[in-house]
Amino acid sequence: MRLVVLGGGESGVGTAILGKQKGYDVFVSDFGKIKDSYKEVLINKGIEWEEEKHTESQILNADVVMKSPGIPEKAPIVKKLIEKGIPVISEIEFAAPFTKAVTIGITGSNGKTTTTMLTYHLLQSAGLKVGLAGNIGKSFAEQVAEDKYDSYVLELSSFQLDGIINYKPHIAIITNISPDHLDRYDYKYENYIDSKFRITMNQTEEDYLIYDADDETISNWLQNNKTRAKLIPFSLTKTFEEGAFIKNNTMEVTINQEEFKMETESIALEGKHNLKNAMAATSVAKLMQIRKATIRESLSNFQGVEHRLEKVLKIQNVQYINDSKATNVNATFFALDSMNTPTVWIVGGVDKGNDYNELMALVREKVKAIICLGVDNGKIIDAFGNVVDMMIEVQSMREAVIMAQRLTEKGDTVLLSPACASFDLFENYEDRGRQFKEAVQNL
Ligand code: ADP
Repeated sequence: MRLVVLGGGESGVGTAILGKQKGYDVFVSDFGKIKDSYKEVLINKGIEWEEEKHTESQILNADVVMKSPGIPEKAPIVKKLIEKGIPVISEIEFAAPFTKAVTIGITGSNGKTTTTMLTYHLLQSAGLKVGLAGNIGKSFAEQVAEDKYDSYVLELSSFQLDGIINYKPHIAIITNISPDHLDRYDYKYENYIDSKFRITMNQTEEDYLIYDADDETISNWLQNNKTRAKLIPFSLTKTFEEGAFIKNNTMEVTINQEEFKMETESIALEGKHNLKNAMAATSVAKLMQIRKATIRESLSNFQGVEHRLEKVLKIQNVQYINDSKATNVNATFFALDSMNTPTVWIVGGVDKGNDYNELMALVREKVKAIICLGVDNGKIIDAFGNVVDMMIEVQSMREAVIMAQRLTEKGDTVLLSPACASFDLFENYEDRGRQFKEAVQNL
């Protein structure tokens, strides 16, 4: 059997390692450059590879092809493979049959990483032999080759789900759905929604689908389509016999007639969106029969993930918050929603078709000044010019932070939550967040 791997990154090299171990004839092909560290691994394992080209004679003879999630289906080599009827699958699809471990698959437009990390923290604190993979950290396939874990928590993007055929998680979570990455889905929101729901398409009656019951897109899909999985809803406003909800400032999770309750005040993560993430993760913990005391402790000591509503410093009683990962309006909505003091909001970057109207009420209520940090700020100025008293444009993070400090008084908050991608002025959202933290530390 010939396995061709397109893309020599983390998931590609991991898949090649697993394929080789299972006796496949493996070939890795990358149209860009492969990192030296990965080349070394491939050479050590005796795996053939090429870079800066796709040699068709070496690729179109594959029995199966693993495509890295970053490569679009429109890429000419992928089109040719599909025309020839050669299965093009994702890392998860390739690796899953080689492990007996239970997998928990987490997808959604926002909150994947936070929910994945929190779920992992809960299971690990309970002493389970659990791995963390998908969009995060070390390749799933490589971990399957090492065979150390009984369960995995997997962060799954829509691109990974596009490449599954038979894979099913025993427990799936859909955190929420709002328009994103539409450039890869022919600008059709329905296609993106369908892609997210692939997470449940192979699930059976023994499996579970945990989902946000406040999310209209999800509710509509569930009304008009079928899943065999047992449904576990969570909500901030509704209550359920089975599921998770908030009532009287208490989180209640009831599964298999067993109830878990915890005061929301004791949950370390802040903001309504994080209560949703906590309900989702706790539902998994209950399904995995983790003890209540462990769940309670883990939820009260989980400090969140870098660049997601991360508290940086308090200077002269002004709190600085780094939410650089907020690259769309929905994420910023929840950031603004969780502000309790007058806020100087740093926003802007590469707009992905944002509708700023969704933020209007929150901005009126909470924002005292806006600092636009982007190459083109026209849309933001048009949207909020008449809504806030102070609005300024800057071209660097340093300027943004210095201006923000000037505009604050004791008790205010400075929030970086850009609602946009970062590529105009920064390498990526991590770079943007790091520059913010550095500038704050230098104040
Ligand atoms: P993802 O991995 O899906 O991008 P992250 O956990 O990295 O999600 O969070 C991305 C952004 O969305 C952050 O700004 C974060 O504060 C915000 N966020 C986290 N959870 C949610 C949620 N459930 N709903 C909306 N926004 C969220």
